[in-house]
Order: sequence, then C-alpha cells, then structure tokens
Amino acid sequence: MKNTTVRTRFAPSPTGFLHVGGLRTALYSYLFAKQNGGRFILRLEDTDLKRFVESAAEAIYSGLKWAGIEYDEGPGKDGPFGPYIQSQRLEIYKKYALELVKKGAAYYCFCGEETLKQMREEQAARKLAPKYDRRCRKLSKEEIEKKLESGAPYVIRMKIPQGRKIEFDDIVRGKISYNSDELDDQVLLKSDGYPTYHLAVVVDDHLMQISHVTRTEEWLPSTPKHILLYEYLGWEIPRFAHLPLLLNTDKTKMSKRKGDVAVEDYIKKGYLPQAMINYLALLGWNPGLSPEVLAKGEHEQEMFSMQELIRNFDLHKVHKAGAVFDIEKLNWFNSQYLRKFSDEELLEKTRPYLPNTKDFSNEQIIRMLNLEKERSATLAAIGESVKFYFNLPEYESSLLKWKDMADSDIKKSLETSREIISQTDEQSFTSQKLSEVFLEKAKGFKNRGELLWPLRASLSGQKFSPPPFDILEILGKGKSSERINAAIEKIS
Ligand code: GLU
Repeated sequence: MKNTTVRTRFAPSPTGFLHVGGLRTALYSYLFAKQNGGRFILRLEDTDLKRFVESAAEAIYSGLKWAGIEYDEGPGKDGPFGPYIQSQRLEIYKKYALELVKKGAAYYCFCGEETLKQMREEQAARKLAPKYDRRCRKLSKEEIEKKLESGAPYVIRMKIPQGRKIEFDDIVRGKISYNSDELDDQVLLKSDGYPTYHLAVVVDDHLMQISHVTRTEEWLPSTPKHILLYEYLGWEIPRFAHLPLLLNTDKTKMSKRKGDVAVEDYIKKGYLPQAMINYLALLGWNPGLSPEVLAKGEHEQEMFSMQELIRNFDLHKVHKAGAVFDIEKLNWFNSQYLRKFSDEELLEKTRPYLPNTKDFSNEQIIRMLNLEKERSATLAAIGESVKFYFNLPEYESSLLKWKDMADSDIKKSLETSREIISQTDEQSFTSQKLSEVFLEKAKGFKNRGELLWPLRASLSGQKFSPPPFDILEILGKGKSSERINAAIEKIS
C-alpha cells in the first residue's frame, strides 16, 4: 500500500548534547509534518556504543520540549511502530541483515581488525582510497558455514554493484547522481550484533513509514547506499531533503570552539524558545516575498510564531548554501520577544536569574527590569545588569571622579546630593521630581556631570547604568542615602 500520510522524523544519536543544528533539523521536520497534517516522530539512534553518552537523551527530550517541538511518536510516547530507541530493536535489524544475505545482496565477512588494517596500509602505499577489497565475497558456501560453526566473529556487508548510476531527486538539492563505484561494501551488521547507522536508518524509516527524510547534507554521501538497500529489500524509497549546514561566521562548520552550540547553553543564558525557533527557521529558509512586493518597499516578515511557521514554512524553498549562525541576529530576535512580555511575564521569566530579592517589592523589580530590557539581549544579561540594585559592587574611589575633578570637589558634589535627598520627602522621591531638583541644582556647577556622575557612580558602583534619577527612585530614600554616605567615606 502506498503511504500517503506525511511522516517525518528527527533521528539524533545521543552522543553528547543537542546541537542547535539538530534543533533546526527537528524544527524543519516538525513544521513540514504539521503543515501537511502529518506526524512527527522522534527516534533515538543509539547503536554506536562507543559514542553513547548517558545524559544525552535527556538533553534531546528537554531541548525539544523547551522549544515547543512536540513529537507524536517517540520515546515515552508509544505509537504503532515502537520501540523508538534503536538499541531496543536489535532483533529487527538482525532479521533484515540475514534476509539480505539470503537474497544475495549482502554477505558474511570474517576479516578481522588486523586484516583490514593491513589492507588499508597497502592501499595507502599504492595511493588508493581505503576500501574493503571484497575478498569475503568469494568465500564458498562451505567455507562460510564452517567459519560460522566454529564461532568465528563476522560482520555482514552489503554488496555494492559495479558501474551503477544511483540517482534521486532531493527536495533541497535537486537531482543528485552517484556512481556506485565510489561506494564501499558497507558494513550493515557489526560483530557485536549491533547494526550500523546505514542498516538501522533504512529499516526504521521503512517500518516507521517515514515519507520524508530530512537531515543535514553531511548524510548525503550515505544516501546512495540507503537507496540500494531500499531496492534490495523491495521497499518504497522515501523523499529526501538534505538541509544546509550551520556555519560559524568564518564559514567553517559550526563548532564548539567558536561559541555555544548546545541548546542547553542557550537555555541557561536565558534565550527565549520563541526567539530561537524564529531565528533557526530563518537559517536556511526565508519566506521569500515576491519581487513585486519587495519593490513596493515592503520588508520580508521576520517575526514568526510557531503557528505562523507551520503555515508559511516551505521545505522546497530551503537554500542549498550553508547558513551562518549569527549570534547578533539571535540576540536581536531575543530582544524583540523580550519587549513583548508583560511586566508579570518579564518578572517571572527573569526571576531565576536574580539574586535574593527580598529587599525589593515586585513593583521595584519590574521597574529595574523594564529599564534594562531594551539594552540586554537575554534574561541572563538582564539579571546581570540589575545585580547592582541588590548588592552594590566593590568599586575604586576613582570611579566617582568626573573628568579632572579633585577629591574635595567630588566630596562636595556627593554632599550636595545627600542634602537634596534628605530634603526630598518620600512622596516626591520619584525619578521625575528628583530629576527636576537635581538638574536645577546642577546649574551651580561648572558642568552638570560634576553633580550627576559622582551621584550615579555612588548609587550603581559601576561605569555604566541607567540614569541616576531612575536608580534613586528604585532604591528609595534609605538605600540611596546609605550608598552616597559610603561613597563620601571612600573619598574622604
Ligand atoms: N543518527 C543520525 C545523526 O545523528 C541521523 C541521520 C539521519 O537523520 O538519517 O544525525
């Protein structure tokens, strides 16, 4: 029966963390399934025991959940084609490996590590590409049986035909053609009984009725082998979409050495899932307004909610070229979404990034956050920038100095501020009122910086901060006086 429902999958190997590139692959697969009324499947490809990392599966589950990418079938969410964890499906792969042998499409290979190493060395010496020389293809039935009976370790390899053109039409990359002579007799089943990626991916994509295989272009050279396996097993070949890689700004493959690549790191820094999703969606795809619309001066839409992405995303319009992951652009999206928050949302989301807040009311904290949210890209950065309200940082007395003011002038300036503060009653202790009084008083100084800089520095303990009047209002009369007194003491 022809499979007409769209079913896509994300098939990560739990070998470390969830890479932002992986999250984008998951997103594209999810969007495509959802816009077609299809299903999105999560499958863990954990058959490489050497690379397996215990905590990695958890990072995948929590990263997807954070991003709002919900899978319809997968680990913990059983569906008709489970289990969805490959290490729990070993018998299935073995069965198909043996079926391939029976069909003459695969064969037992008894060459051990030593033999293969020697083979590679000889090939290297003759400047040939390393390739299995297919010697076990020639074993007789009797020889094979004898070896199997004696318990000799073996792998099962697929037979690659000679001189065959293998062609397919990739949704992103168009017509692709490989010559089978470039391919090695791929191991399908390893000596430990585990399948290789190639066998497992084909068996599972077929049994799980995947209609569209979406993955990054790194897997492109594997696809001709997969196509042969589909043919050998008499299965319908799914559509393929090989997505462009994510790149560092220097156009190299996005890697840990050049910045954060783990979704977890972005979560910790307080990036918002909406911003990440929106940004990742546009890394490799754009809504592509028609030239006529663009000519009218209209901008391409940049802000997309998940629902809008489901409606607008177009797998057929994904670019071929690698997409540069630009943290500045992600920051821009993040601040756009931060600005949309209500006061309550802002408070709730930033709370985990704040120190002990017991000395301040929610109202005061919301004022601090609002002053910073325009200037900070992430929740963690907002948390960092409001720290000084809670704990005055250690600072050098030189911070209090405006231009070439003498210490005695700084002291006088701070005393003037102290006086204004003590003369202002609680009710008038607002940014508006205070700025009026201070600016009036500043007229008596050579430059108003002489009054305002030491004031602001004493209140914030840092070089940059919001204007002093806002800080005064938020800190209130008591705390403000304390900080100014401390500064006077420092300079005296
Ligand atoms: N397990 C592969 C990976 O880690 C999946 C490749 C594919 O989607 O076929 O990326």
